Amino acid sequence: MNPTLLNPEVAAPETRTPVALRTSITAHIATHPLAAASTADTSRLTSDVARQIKQDLRMGRKYQQGRINWITTIVMALFHVGAIAALFCFSWKNLAAFAVMYYLAINVGIGMTYHRLLTHRGYRIPKWLEYLFTACGTMALEGGPIFWVATHRVHHQNSDHEGDPHTPREGTWWSHAGWIISGRALHSETALLGRYAPDLTRDRGHVWLSRFHWLPLTLSGLAQLAIGAALAPAGHAVYGGVSMVLWGTFLRVTLGLHATWLVNSATHLFGTRRFPTKDDSRNSWWVALLTGGEGWHNNHHAHPVSARHGLVWYEFDVNYYGIWLLEKIGLAKKIQVAHYDKSNPKPAGSL
Ligand SMILES: [Zn+2]
Ligand SMILES: [Zn+2]
Repeated sequence: MNPTLLNPEVAAPETRTPVALRTSITAHIATHPLAAASTADTSRLTSDVARQIKQDLRMGRKYQQGRINWITTIVMALFHVGAIAALFCFSWKNLAAFAVMYYLAINVGIGMTYHRLLTHRGYRIPKWLEYLFTACGTMALEGGPIFWVATHRVHHQNSDHEGDPHTPREGTWWSHAGWIISGRALHSETALLGRYAPDLTRDRGHVWLSRFHWLPLTLSGLAQLAIGAALAPAGHAVYGGVSMVLWGTFLRVTLGLHATWLVNSATHLFGTRRFPTKDDSRNSWWVALLTGGEGWHNNHHAHPVSARHGLVWYEFDVNYYGIWLLEKIGLAKKIQVAHYDKSNPKPAGSL
């Protein structure tokens, strides 16, 4: 898609040269043997170095090393085993823990915050609430905010073209989970990722949350253990605690991961296209149902900054209803909403 469709305040490096990138280019040139060469040489060097820096972060299958990322794979496998185990210990209390945690992590954390707030800046909320909601997002086990936001901005910049981290054009399984378990482990490459999320790497709160992204999930798991044990009948505290963790953490995380991954795989493969975007994005009602509105993905690629993804009344958009509610109680401001003209549907920025 056209990168200018991203919020200009947080546009990716294509659209402007971030300070870090400029500094890096200048440093490379200063130490280069041709440092004192002509202006033509200097401009050639500048473009060489800029290309090299972009190359460092090239995502997409052919740029990955094709190795299994074992730590991620083992963690994912354990969560899937826990999810299956959960099916053998149903209770209404455990289902309630699942529902509350799913809403907090997937709707509030990923949809409302990681995606619509931090990546696209479709609205504003007070900083303390932004950190609190970001902590909810970390509980989805989708990495810290810097990794998630940078990866998603790269996706918008290169959607279904070279450099897209997870396009189904490079394989359906690759776009769903393959890119997570066999791609390069970029989580720790904060310096590289920072070029796509300079607004977050400048923010000490988000740097801290990115570093300790595992902490809220661990603490919430311990809380579920304690609550499940406390609510269990006498003599069944261990079963009550463990089974609540299986539902509130293992099953909930596993289904939440697949729901989010479906936005990368299914909504670039199946569904309807309202807007003629330059990618394969589609609107999928069932992915929207699982993710709280993120499945209206063709609408989203056409209007990335819009905090509202469902553009007509029957396109339910639970995450937008949450943002709307925040506005009504005075916590959300500057909400961007796309204006959809049914007689002339066109992506934002097109003539
Ligand atoms: Zn997409
Ligand atoms: Zn997006």
